[in-house]
Amino acid sequence: MATVRLKALEEVLNRKPVDVELPSVKTSEYFGINVFDKNKMQEYLSREAYESVVQAINQGVRIDRKVANQVASGMKAWAIDRRATHYTHWFHPLSGSTAEKHDAFFEPADNGGVIENFQGEMLVQQEPDASSFPSGGLRNTFEARGYTAWDPSSPAFVYGNTLCIPTIFVSYTGEALDYKTPLLKSLNFIDKAAVDVCQLFEKEVSKVNVTLGWEQEYFLIDNALYNARPDLYLTGRTLIGHASAKDQQLSDHYFGSISDRVTYFMRDFEIESYKLGIPIKTRHNEVAPNQFECAPRYEEANLAADHNQMLMTIMEKVAKKHNFRVLFHEKPYKGINGSGKHNNWSMLTDTGRNLLSPGKTPKSNLQFLTFLINTIKAVHDHADLLRASIATAGNEYRLGAHEAPPAIMSVFIGSQLTSILDQLEKRVTNKKMTPDEKTELKLDIGKIPEILMDNTDRNRTSPFAFTGNRFEFRAVGSSANVAAPMIALNSVVGNQLVQFKKDVDVLMQKNVKKDEAIFQVLKKYIIESKKIRFEGNGYSNDWVKEAEKRGLSNVSNIPDALKEFITPETIKLFGDSQVLSERELEARYDIRLEIYVKRAQIEARVLGDLARNHVIPTVIKYQNVLIQNVMGLKELYPKELFEKLSKTQLDTITTISEHMTIVKDLVELMIEARKRANEIEDIVLKATDYSRNVVAYFDKIRYHVDKLELIVDDSIWPFPKYREMLFTR
Ligand code: ADP
Ligand code: MG
Repeated sequence: MATVRLKALEEVLNRKPVDVELPSVKTSEYFGINVFDKNKMQEYLSREAYESVVQAINQGVRIDRKVANQVASGMKAWAIDRRATHYTHWFHPLSGSTAEKHDAFFEPADNGGVIENFQGEMLVQQEPDASSFPSGGLRNTFEARGYTAWDPSSPAFVYGNTLCIPTIFVSYTGEALDYKTPLLKSLNFIDKAAVDVCQLFEKEVSKVNVTLGWEQEYFLIDNALYNARPDLYLTGRTLIGHASAKDQQLSDHYFGSISDRVTYFMRDFEIESYKLGIPIKTRHNEVAPNQFECAPRYEEANLAADHNQMLMTIMEKVAKKHNFRVLFHEKPYKGINGSGKHNNWSMLTDTGRNLLSPGKTPKSNLQFLTFLINTIKAVHDHADLLRASIATAGNEYRLGAHEAPPAIMSVFIGSQLTSILDQLEKRVTNKKMTPDEKTELKLDIGKIPEILMDNTDRNRTSPFAFTGNRFEFRAVGSSANVAAPMIALNSVVGNQLVQFKKDVDVLMQKNVKKDEAIFQVLKKYIIESKKIRFEGNGYSNDWVKEAEKRGLSNVSNIPDALKEFITPETIKLFGDSQVLSERELEARYDIRLEIYVKRAQIEARVLGDLARNHVIPTVIKYQNVLIQNVMGLKELYPKELFEKLSKTQLDTITTISEHMTIVKDLVELMIEARKRANEIEDIVLKATDYSRNVVAYFDKIRYHVDKLELIVDDSIWPFPKYREMLFTR
């Protein structure tokens, strides 16, 4: 009987691409058709209601009940025109995915029939039974209530037949149970801090928005192969599997031409995205085989975060139509590149200035340098928090553990900016500058070109790179909710900007002129944050050594990385910025550890099952074939000839039996270690124990299983091999 694997392979070889026709109209004609955006609001809402919503979006002004009713009824009318039958509050719980509970629009009517109903209170607030969402102890079990509340700054949309209303999710006592609540607070915080600093340069600025453009990497795998790998469908990554003879050595997949089957899939999800107003712009092959990337044009960060969550859902759904599965896991395959989600981040003023873009005049360039240097200083001071913000079980296998890139935070700015910062560091002194020195300095600063040549082909090995007019936080995991790193980044930079303003004010009160005060503070920051700057190869071993000399941390295991969530500095930072309270931080820390433990536990179980129920029985089958063969030879041949002819078989029997015994023993040891870890009550100790004593077995077991994969008869091996998962489609 053919194995599941061989049947799956046959299915893949017979696949036909599922053609997707281009829409008959231009993209601009249907872009955002399923979004209740300002244009549709104008059409469906009274003037009063429309203006209230716009005010709520722009200034965070509350919407009163009467107006909420009007908005609800306009939204309902629009949604029903878009064929919606249900509505849901759509939120981002800390489990990492998105949550929705659909309610039908209709309500019983007096005449015994039903009417379509959707009131203001249903729009503004809901009370989902929240007891199964992670709360990290913020919700006592007897108080299962959690509230969702409308976020007018992200527009409602229709997906399928459901009106989805973006909401925050908080506990009965007001603590955040989601990503959106602190994200909005962090955006508010950095807005105020950045506006205050802008005032030093540009009086007209009254609002600063964070812009975010994410790049989403992912792998595709055929549905049949995916279903033949329990490790993939239960854990998202392969726990066993020998490397393919050829994988990414030749880099021949990168930017290569995209196959029809994949093109149709991409086209399909792009069309769906456009209907929802997600401005996907680029698509290309990545370095690893069957790895791809897509990226939209950047947007305001809250909207961008919602759009990324929406896109991941859309991609998963659309992939099934094309007999694909999307792998968002950070490290689905050992030995080849993992997937990240680069977060391109900048700040944009309401006067239209990108604060991380060099300008045309010395004044605008001084403003640019101010934001650049403050960001570097913030990353320097809070590198461990930024590291913690991206620490997830999946990212542990991608960063640091065994393969590049390491989990060291550093900042790349390119050689041109490095030399400008070096000059500032050397030349600006605390004594008063002569007019000549001042002119010279202004000239230097004025010389910053608008396009920084070396940043267009910037260092791809840096976890945090300046790329010409934005920073690119590249260490973020591909499955992450981008709000998590954004909350941290906005808060640390906001906090730094507050400090900068204070430092400049102190000097100005001592009658130091404004520009000079700015220079002096920047010089101080350049010196203080110098060690975080690194322009070399971030994947090299030399950097690991160099970073250690510089005193930069390199925490590769997740439980240790997460500790940063509850240090006094973090608690103070988030307290001062009012983004997260101490209780909320502790809850988040607990939830992250819980998720880590559960995932490690599942992986350990799956690995044990694969080894004992699949690999060992297969090896025994092959062992029997060899034994029978040897016995047959023994009957046929005289002793001397028999010994010669059976040598390969006997050696093979010995080798596979040895590997098999080791696999069995290691699996038993791992199970015992798991049992011991499960008995630990304290979640911090438990997570650490899992990391040190359970996860530590994974690679050891895998090593022997992978050896067996290379020896056992290919036709009976039960699991799709790396070469099949990476190269067939
Ligand atoms: P690359 O692959 O060279 O990094 P991409 O075009 O794939 O470039 O992605 C770059 C991302 O950066 C896009 O989402 C783009 O919109 C975004 N981006 C560009 N300018 C800004 C900005 N000022 N703020 C935030 N994101 C930006
Ligand atoms: Mg890119």
